[in-house]
Order: sequence, then C-alpha cells, then structure tokens
Amino acid sequence: MNEESRKTLMKSKNGPANRQLIRDINQNSLLNLIKTEGPVARTRLAELSGLSLATISYITGDLLERNLLLESGAAESTGGRKPVLLEIRPEGGFAIGLKLTEYEIIAVILNLNGEIVYSERYSFELRDHGKQAIFLLAEQVQALIGRSGLARAKMIGLGLGMPGLINSEKGICIDSPILGWYDVAISEPLGDLLNMPVYVDNDVNSLAIYEKLFGQGQPFDHFLTITMGRGVGLGLVINGDVYRGGLGGAGEFGHTTVIIDGRQCECGNLGCLEAYASDWGILHTAQEMRGEEIPANSLQAPEHEILRLLDQARAGDIVALEAFRLAGKLLGVSLANLVNLLNPQLVLLSGSGAGAGSILFDPMHQALEAHTFARLGQEMRLAIEPAGDESWARGAASLVLRQFFLSPVNGGI
Ligand SMILES: [Zn+2]
Repeated sequence: MNEESRKTLMKSKNGPANRQLIRDINQNSLLNLIKTEGPVARTRLAELSGLSLATISYITGDLLERNLLLESGAAESTGGRKPVLLEIRPEGGFAIGLKLTEYEIIAVILNLNGEIVYSERYSFELRDHGKQAIFLLAEQVQALIGRSGLARAKMIGLGLGMPGLINSEKGICIDSPILGWYDVAISEPLGDLLNMPVYVDNDVNSLAIYEKLFGQGQPFDHFLTITMGRGVGLGLVINGDVYRGGLGGAGEFGHTTVIIDGRQCECGNLGCLEAYASDWGILHTAQEMRGEEIPANSLQAPEHEILRLLDQARAGDIVALEAFRLAGKLLGVSLANLVNLLNPQLVLLSGSGAGAGSILFDPMHQALEAHTFARLGQEMRLAIEPAGDESWARGAASLVLRQFFLSPVNGGI
C-alpha cells in the first residue's frame, strides 16, 4: 500500500459514518496487502495498514471463515510465540475470463493467485451478433462452469476482453469494428443473466492489468504492454493505473503514422504502424517486394502464412528478411517516440508476433537505441514475452481479480 492509499484509509476512518463502505475499504485493502506481502503476520498488517490489531483480527477472521485466506507456517520470530502467517487461499474463489474474437471464444478460469485452473477454446460466431450475443454468451458461460467441474458458488465474476473502444466503467462496448458491435451494453444485462459481476475492457488493457497484478509489471508504476500479431496494440499503465484517455480509446499505438502517405491501413488512414508491423503488414511488404498481387480481404493474414514467411527469413530469404527488418525498424522508432514521451520503467512486448525473435527485434533494438533521448532508454527494461491466445483470456479474468483486490477508494490496479 502506498502512502497516498494509507492516508485515504486513515481519512475514511475519521470521515462521515458509512460503516459498510469503510468495512469494504478495509477488507479490500487487507486482501490487497495479503496478496502482495503474504505470507504475512497480523502485526505486520497492522503496521502496514495503520488499522488496529483488533480490526485486523476481526476482518481476517471473517475472511478465514469465508475460505478466502489460509493460515500458514510461522514468521521468523524475535523471541516469544511465533506468529501465524496469512496468505490468500488460491482456491477460495475463481474468476472467469473470455477473450472474444470474430469467430472464436477463448476461455480460462483463474484461481485467486491468477493461475489458470481450467481453459478451453472453441469456434463461436460472434461477429455482427451484437445485443443477441449477450444471451449466447450467458449460455456459454453456464456451460463452461459446468464443464470445469468447479463450484458455481465460488465464481466471483466474469471478465471480457475484446478489441475496440470500450467504456469499462459502464460496461459498454462502444465500437468494436472487428466484432461489428456498436453501443452494446454488456456488464449489466450479462451480469443479470448470470447473477455475478461482469467486467469488460479493451483486450490490451486487460493484458496490462494482468501484468500489473500478477506478471512482470508488478514492481512498476509506469510500464507499457505492446502486443504484436493480428494488430499492434498498446496498454498504458501510468501512475499505477491504466491510462484510458477521454473516450477510453487511448493506446491506439498501431494507428500512429510511421510513413506519411504510406500504405492504407485497415482503419482507413495511410501509413499507420500496423500497416507495416502487424502480421498482415509484414506479409504485404513481402508481397509488394516480390511484385505479387495483394489479395482482397488480406488483412486477416492466416497464421500459417506469417509462419511460412518467418521460416523463409530464418533460411536467409532476402525479401522475407527485409519485410521483418522494416517492421522492426518502424516499431523501434515508434517505441522510441513513446519512451521519449512517457519514460516507462518497463516495456513488455507480447502477443503472437513477439515470437519472431531476433529477425524482428534486432532492427527494433537498433532503431530504439538510435532514437531514444539521453538516458531514458538505458534506464528502461525491455522484456519480450511471446504469448499465446490463452494469455488474452487470462487478462480478461484479471479484470475480476482486480476488483476483488481493489479498495473502492484507493483507485489504481
Ligand atoms: Zn490505422
């Protein structure tokens, strides 16, 4: 817990009487502290939270009774009786996460430690279904829980990650061109059908939230998650929270211009980063260089085509190498612009495209180094984490865990 949160907590104790809210704040704050510090003794929780030992004992007693905590081992003692340590009981509750794409649902169920305990994926036509999809999704989730064999009562919520512009506060999909959904209310109707809280967010934001809660972003308050593959996405964590901008559409990194009057992008603009560094962008570069005709509807590059191009590059094919080199260079320059603007502590490159390895990332590193201002690049960590489709669903489920561990007042992730 940071200094700001502690002050908020103390203020709440002395503020107008709203006991339920204060109890919720204290309970979530303690859950958060136990998650980050655990295994941890009650006395240490009192020091860290500023709450009295009596309050801590009362709340943790309740959480133990609800099977959300685990008493374990004993702390190093400075003499006298060894204190019992508390930690989160991983199987105390489960969060469901769905990643929605045009033709497929990827589903996971996470325990409270953010570990996948069940997963599946199947073809499912969601494109253009919009409002009707809410009923279809409710059926799918009920069936998923049944197949998982986990207790329905232990499901603490459902998270949905989807491409496009999402109002996460209201749980509305404002505009998802990939799914063909416009102004579709999701959280409320789906929550009513399933009788559990439902959270929805942009899929890249969901990934960033997972990284902050359970992944490599944990120690950092300022980091970027960049995804490569079908498109080029960006999740921004600034001051410990996801930065969304005015409409909730911040992070359209893939649609920043890298070549003035360049190739037409899926969004309609010319010369976007995505038109050169996404799977289809890299394929188009190779096709252009070979003088091949670019097929219509070629923006959804089949996975096997980009893998074949990667094989060709690894075998020394000049055109294939050049297509990845151009993508890497433009990505590196764009990334340098971001680093110069935001001074992140960590940049995490993930998504299926991150599996391209040095053929893509060597030119990216060179361009990044050449264009990063002074020491900003040297002080920054860069991690490459090729991730499969399951990681997107894991991100969606972390929307639920985020709420579970979030104080109603503290804000942040
Ligand atoms: Zn674009």
